[in-house]
Amino acid sequence: MIHISPEDIKLYDDVETLSSLICEQIGYSPDSVSEQIHSRITDIIQKGLNAVELEFLVRTTAITGWEKANIDGTCVNIESKKWANLLNTMESPEVLCCFIITLGKQIDIINKELRKKNLFDPFVLDAFGSVLVEKAADHLEASIGIQLKKNNYECSRRFSPGYCDWGLKSGQEAICRFLAPGKIRVRCLTTGTMVPAKSVSAVMVGAKCVPWKTPCRFCREIKCPYRREKNE
Ligand code: SF4
Repeated sequence: MIHISPEDIKLYDDVETLSSLICEQIGYSPDSVSEQIHSRITDIIQKGLNAVELEFLVRTTAITGWEKANIDGTCVNIESKKWANLLNTMESPEVLCCFIITLGKQIDIINKELRKKNLFDPFVLDAFGSVLVEKAADHLEASIGIQLKKNNYECSRRFSPGYCDWGLKSGQEAICRFLAPGKIRVRCLTTGTMVPAKSVSAVMVGAKCVPWKTPCRFCREIKCPYRREKNE
């Protein structure tokens, strides 16, 4: 049902845009960064871009049922009350689409080396990896949405283990059992942390009609930093 080629995943706009996003991530105002720091950040971005080995896995399965705190699919199970409740608002939720996307192990290797020399460079490279892998996941999410639409499904936003009420460890284990990410050289530690570090796993729901893309509208966690006020 889902066929996505690596060319569909646009990693970044340009180095300047990436630099601004990284400054934001590390708490610097892009306007007040000195020329020297700006050039150091640019060098690290270049180093990071050269090290990226983007890989991803996508697999869909049929939703076989859902209860109060569980979404059941063939070979995968999502333990989340909030997301299970969201399925009650959808018309014919039928598809779970799981994915893992990674920037590869080179970023981790370079960061380990940089940590031996100073604190700033690995801090920036870590922020670079976080910004880039989220962007890559955004593009993959959008591409999956397009593919689902071609199959006459609307879709939810992506949701990941460790967010809302879905446990990190049980969620990562469920996705990894289903996707077997060894083929893209990703593994899950017993803590639920993924290796390489700059990897994102997530699930999306496909249904005939999806009035609400996230459970935020029905959620009482008013101060949640991930709350989406808009239904998009
Ligand atoms: S507000 Fe936060 S916890 Fe609640 S559904 Fe939205 S993202 Fe999840």
